[in-house]
Amino acid sequence: MKLSLFKKLAKKYSNLPLSKDIQDIDDFNKYQDALLNDKKCTDWVLKQQIKSAGLNPNKYCCLDMGYHLIEAKKTKRKTKINYDTIIITTKSKEFGIPIHDGGTSFIKINYCPWCGHKLK
Ligand SMILES: [Zn+2]
Repeated sequence: MKLSLFKKLAKKYSNLPLSKDIQDIDDFNKYQDALLNDKKCTDWVLKQQIKSAGLNPNKYCCLDMGYHLIEAKKTKRKTKINYDTIIITTKSKEFGIPIHDGGTSFIKINYCPWCGHKLK
């Protein structure tokens, strides 16, 4: 699917809840298929989600890293433990796996778990 068509369909179908009859439409099925199986469409969706969380998708080694840092960003504003946070980054550009004990400890990682890129 062309990304331009996908973007149009995403605008149409990303507002939930969808009515029941929409799911029978051929366009919706094509949209769903592209969302799950077409890398350029999936990457575009990830970029949009990263941007809307206030993060820069180009700042990280891969979109998966940026996407998974969204929860860490949300956590910074809360005092409760966010168990959905699976990776964090520090001001000194370290990356790590958080230890959900109520503190700020984490296990430092040297390579991206998604793309294998060496982290600085
Ligand atoms: Zn990566």
